[in-house]
Amino acid sequence: MLRRTKLGESDVICTLLSCDGSQIRAVAKGARKPSSSFASRLEVYSVCDLLLCQGKTLDIVKEARLLEGNEHLRRDYALMEAASPMVEILDKTTQVGLEDERLFPMTCVALKALKAANLENAVASPECYTAGYLLKTLAVLGFRPRFDACVECGNSISPERLPSRAPFSLVDGGMVCPSCSYASETIVLSRDTVLWAQALLFSTFEEISHFEIEVDERLRVMRFLQLWIRQHLGISLKSLDYLISFR
Ligand SMILES: [Zn+2]
Repeated sequence: MLRRTKLGESDVICTLLSCDGSQIRAVAKGARKPSSSFASRLEVYSVCDLLLCQGKTLDIVKEARLLEGNEHLRRDYALMEAASPMVEILDKTTQVGLEDERLFPMTCVALKALKAANLENAVASPECYTAGYLLKTLAVLGFRPRFDACVECGNSISPERLPSRAPFSLVDGGMVCPSCSYASETIVLSRDTVLWAQALLFSTFEEISHFEIEVDERLRVMRFLQLWIRQHLGISLKSLDYLISFR
């Protein structure tokens, strides 16, 4: 469940990610009544098995069986803040009828993995999962930033050869080598930002749970993601802006 929108007295429009990666919008009648059987099931972040029937404009939810409540994300404020950009990017980029089978399993794993960020001995902060998830989702959507080669001339840029302040072209989609940087419009990313973004992109959430990224560095990665998402998706994620502004 990605989003709940109030409708009328007691109904809810549910925006959902289907297991084939397409978006579903359906009305759950009476879902805001405390007595409704939908009340505890159709919550943001929950995973449900639904029985839908075709309505006039939107489908109608007839039955909902809870598969994974993900209550930890609603109970803990820091986890909720970290999970919000995950559902917001899906809400804004997935479409009815447009399938991608990688999105649903990846999202389930990420939401569940966030639980580890709340344990007493947790190493990675919740935002590490957010950044990792956004990078992976962007890659699935076809907007993977190129970190390993110059986007202008194609020469490889190995981690050892990364300068401490690396030119990066938002428009062309990746790193720019020193000899090409004079001819293209670039921003500057720190070496650590590039290395962390790369690590977050290519690691599993289990691996990410061991990442110890300092708060300033996490912020730099998230600010980079903010710019990248604006440039390539033409949207801004309010929940990501919020996460950044309060760190
Ligand atoms: Zn180059």
